[in-house]
Amino acid sequence: MAAITTAPVSLTSRVAAFAGNRNVRAQRSVAGKARVAPRAVSVRAAVADNATGERIYNFSAGPAILPLDVLEDAQADLINYKGTGMSVMEMSHRGKEFMGIAAEAEADLRELVGIPDNYKVLFLQGGASTQFSAIPLNLCKEGDTADFVVTGSWGAKAVSEAKKYVTANVAATEKANGFTTIPDVADWNLTEGSKFVHICSNETIQGVEFKEVPDVGGRTLVADMSSNYLSKPIDVKKYGIIYGGVQKNIGPAGMAIVIVREDLIGDAMDICPTMLDYATMAENDSMYNTPPCYTMYMSGLVFKKLLKMGGLEEVEKMNEAKAKILYDAIDNSDGYYNNAVDKRYRSLMNVPFTLGAGADMEKKFLAEAGALGLGSLKGHRSIGGARASIYNAMPTEGVQALVDFMADFKAANP
Ligand code: PMP
Repeated sequence: MAAITTAPVSLTSRVAAFAGNRNVRAQRSVAGKARVAPRAVSVRAAVADNATGERIYNFSAGPAILPLDVLEDAQADLINYKGTGMSVMEMSHRGKEFMGIAAEAEADLRELVGIPDNYKVLFLQGGASTQFSAIPLNLCKEGDTADFVVTGSWGAKAVSEAKKYVTANVAATEKANGFTTIPDVADWNLTEGSKFVHICSNETIQGVEFKEVPDVGGRTLVADMSSNYLSKPIDVKKYGIIYGGVQKNIGPAGMAIVIVREDLIGDAMDICPTMLDYATMAENDSMYNTPPCYTMYMSGLVFKKLLKMGGLEEVEKMNEAKAKILYDAIDNSDGYYNNAVDKRYRSLMNVPFTLGAGADMEKKFLAEAGALGLGSLKGHRSIGGARASIYNAMPTEGVQALVDFMADFKAANP
């Protein structure tokens, strides 16, 4: 990535730099209206850095931005994977080539995360939501209790699903406070003998993230890591199960990666569907049926990239620096932009914010940002506002382009 230029460039000329972009008409109309002072850091430079000149900075919560070099590697191998004469999408999952791809993906993930030998890695269809059922079905029997700490919308969904199979005790919830913090672990009402304690390590909609692994007194800790998977080191041995959908930090949608301690496998409820039984999947290397082959391959490319970047400690440093740029911009805006989350638990991945001026101004903000190539900033439909998802693959330049735009917008709409 080239360094960001320091030459003053007006918003209008920055927008014109998107001439190769598909949205050019919308961009021009915004450019015509914009009245902002030239500023030192250029959105144009940041966007021009994109190899194709057509890619936007995509702040979608998921499916989400993937690393450009990974997409290019996949593109190079798309129709003829390494001389096999076929695409990975066209290969038998039982063939030598694909078995090699799958084995390498698992080995790379194990190295990247440091997964102990007594944990299985499963690549499963049905996304994270299917695990909301699979977890109680595998870990409990009828009449058992499981504890849930609800720090946002996804934790609440996990409770609703578990209730179909077990007694789901909400040990703590921040609903009354609009899910803006994490309750103190000393205040959790955990059940004596509960089969597991479920947390969502990063709530994608509310932008609340656990910063430490909670001590649940010897119980089995289960974490939904969908939206902060591989964004920082994971101390696997503190968990019974780690799971998450891949479509945010890892790869194309359609798969969950489940890391499960071996002693938790093999005692599923009788009613557990074969496809959700971890024993079935572990015995068959996640290939009891046809697995999500292409998603496994793409995820494998991302694991290799993260290893090459120096591993999850380096990734975390990068993510902390990126998130700081955005939170500082919000906090230093004199209430023009606001993030309601307790500063101790602000997510490094999903940054929801509102505009002090209200919903109409938010609409204008989102329209102008989108026209400039700062895409998918709309907040989740359940809470509104704006949200910037800044996953691993979002370059620092993208975050910088966003905060530059935020300053320009504030100046133009005081
Ligand atoms: N958990 C979290 C934290 C999520 O963000 C999501 C998806 N946004 C899910 C679970 C559900 O994932 P999926 O769509 O893969 O079922």
